[in-house]
Amino acid sequence: MSMTDAGHPALAFLNTVTDDGKTRAANSFADGEGLLAQLVAAGAVPRGLPVPGGRQMATALALREAGYAVLSAMAAGRKPGREEALTLEAAIKGALQDASFAFGARGMTVVPGPLGGLVDHLALALHDLLRRDDLDRLRECRRCTHLFLDHGRGRGRRWCAMARCGNRAKAEAFRARHRAVTG
Ligand SMILES: [Zn+2]
Repeated sequence: MSMTDAGHPALAFLNTVTDDGKTRAANSFADGEGLLAQLVAAGAVPRGLPVPGGRQMATALALREAGYAVLSAMAAGRKPGREEALTLEAAIKGALQDASFAFGARGMTVVPGPLGGLVDHLALALHDLLRRDDLDRLRECRRCTHLFLDHGRGRGRRWCAMARCGNRAKAEAFRARHRAVTG
């Protein structure tokens, strides 16, 4: 799968599911090591973090699903569910509480505190995403639950990636037309 097409590292984190419908039942990784490798490749977390264990994985995946629920609602112009919004809010507040701020020529940089682990990095990545001024370009794939920032012109992008969902959707539409013609 491509982790770079989404437009923001936090979206790559939310997109770590592989089912091609709306179930979000299948992960794109087999274990903590696999998830960490994908997040590093996407630029969502730095290299060198410890491999997340069971409890950290559960917290990270709860954050992923809360983040997806909120951003999916935003992409559809719906109000997010209260429980998911509160989960996301608590994770971001917790990460900011322990974070270090650096003030430079380009503004303020927020980095997780010395005890901040994987989940803090992910919460701060989501915080960064949620403060972008191009979130009105946020879209959800018509076929799966992957989210992306659509900066294309014209009718707009409908699929997370042509190779993942676009081609299959087109093949299905073709087969449906063919069935309609041949009866
Ligand atoms: Zn898709």
